[in-house]
Amino acid sequence: MFRFIVIGIALILAYLLLKKFLFPSGRLDGRRRDERKISGEDLVEDPCCHTYVPVSEAFRVKAGGKTLYFCSEECYKKFRDKGGHIPD
Ligand SMILES: [Zn+2]
Repeated sequence: MFRFIVIGIALILAYLLLKKFLFPSGRLDGRRRDERKISGEDLVEDPCCHTYVPVSEAFRVKAGGKTLYFCSEECYKKFRDKGGHIPD
């Protein structure tokens, strides 16, 4: 009889560990949601170095009623100094 109790406890512990491993709760879930949000975000092309950057991280410049997105302010300056063509 004692052996059955030990096996039962071992099974419950294994189940709990597996559940914890497969379905981590709390903060981890929140982080996962954030990652999904970022990865599902629109990417915009930097017209200077042609790198794709997420909209929220891009350096925005409004020109001629259009918004241009750069990976950094440096790229915008380079683009502007080169007299880069602003698409319209
Ligand atoms: Zn760039």
